[in-house]
Amino acid sequence: MSDTLVNQPLDENTEQFLEEAASSKFDFHTVSVKAAGDERLKNAVGTAVLRQYVGRQQRLLDLPDSDALRKLAGDIKQHTLDHLDYYLDRLVDNVTKNGGQVHFARDGAEAKQIILKIANDAHCTRCIKSKTMVSEEINLAHALEVAGMDVVETDLGEFIVQISHDKPSHLVAPIVHKDRASIAKLFSEYFNTPYNDDPYALTMQARKYLRDKFRKSDFGMTGGNFLVAETGVVACVENEGNQRQSVTTPRILVSLVGIEKVIPRMTDLAVMLKLLARSATGQPITIYTNIFGGPRAPGEKDGPEEFHLVLIDNGRTEILKDPEYRETLRCIRCGACLNACPIYRKIGGHAYGSVYPGPIGALITPLFQGLEKFKDLPQASSLCGACYEACPVKINIPKHLINLRRDIVNQHINGPIERAVYRFWAWSIQFPVLYQLIGKVQAIDLRRRAKRNNGWIRDLPKIASGWTQVRDMPEPAKHSFHARWRERSRLTK
Ligand code: SF4
Repeated sequence: MSDTLVNQPLDENTEQFLEEAASSKFDFHTVSVKAAGDERLKNAVGTAVLRQYVGRQQRLLDLPDSDALRKLAGDIKQHTLDHLDYYLDRLVDNVTKNGGQVHFARDGAEAKQIILKIANDAHCTRCIKSKTMVSEEINLAHALEVAGMDVVETDLGEFIVQISHDKPSHLVAPIVHKDRASIAKLFSEYFNTPYNDDPYALTMQARKYLRDKFRKSDFGMTGGNFLVAETGVVACVENEGNQRQSVTTPRILVSLVGIEKVIPRMTDLAVMLKLLARSATGQPITIYTNIFGGPRAPGEKDGPEEFHLVLIDNGRTEILKDPEYRETLRCIRCGACLNACPIYRKIGGHAYGSVYPGPIGALITPLFQGLEKFKDLPQASSLCGACYEACPVKINIPKHLINLRRDIVNQHINGPIERAVYRFWAWSIQFPVLYQLIGKVQAIDLRRRAKRNNGWIRDLPKIASGWTQVRDMPEPAKHSFHARWRERSRLTK
């Protein structure tokens, strides 16, 4: 059995996506075209997210007025963000009263430094980690491994991601891009056991391995779905029980959470929990809801000796400062917008080049990491509105994507050719005769191209070639809409 997880080759499907994402110029176009042509990927993603999408719709029907509850949840998050300094102060006071220690980290580097120091000071070497998107955001597991710790992802999906040196491709279901056969092959190689693709057998194999890690661990890492300012506790939801082990077994417990995860009161938590699991997996509530904070109290049978809460900024206050985009920080990472998105279903999560894929990723990745590098992501949307309709905290994703497109133009981030084309279009549309003439020339060219392929256009000029890369376009109609309109008006006069 392989014990070291460092220096293993990446999953072949992920390698190119990660290289692209790491490069100074992220080429969404290339990676998304590759992903859209991968039938295995499309099937795996489509089947899994559709199940969650349908489950969400059914479970929302359980609620007397789900829309009003979504409005309330959005208002709670917005109110907290608008008064974040006040609620963070309350949270810090109450975590401290509970006996916990609070640390603030400006960015990923600082967070990693803080966490490594906590581990070092307590002489910890064996870390069990439950699923947290923010630790993926800063690549924490890798930093702990490099520092010599034995780090194990204990969520089954994350464990599979870890041993295949892959990256999660969904906020809730990290291995949504993998099928059963590829997981069976991976387990057979990793554990050096015969190939067996029975899901129960695979789960038991992982369970046996992880049990031992739980028993021997001295350092627990979690994220946090919510931080309740009123009581100074972290609330985390999960289905596998691995997180409960992570918060109860090790001597030292660290929760790494983004500052935007604060909510004011326990009653607000009840609102959020009603929506989170329903929106994420179509469950009324997750199997486990872990609410914890502070070290083990006298008389308690389990819990850590030390509890540390690391609150990370990593670009969040920059977004907070901007009233236009502040709303994006409401996100509770339920993944419902991914499941609803026709683009995500076709290309999966890796093509977005960040740990935050789908519509919310197309929005927050450029905000966190720079619009220049990720300028293509706001275009990766049909603006159909399905994400807004699915969002439990009513983030108006399409509106913000349009605003980002506006920023791209205003900041001259789009290329000179694209700008010239749109300028010419805007200018020509003022002169109907010229505009119609251009339309006629275009139609002649398109008919000529269609003639070569039995009435289908398969090769548009470079500027529009994306359209025909994964689909054919029919020949233009003999009579244009304008011509038919004119003809109809003439006849009805
Ligand atoms: S934007 Fe809304 S729907 Fe998407 S992950 Fe965040 S909370 Fe869920």
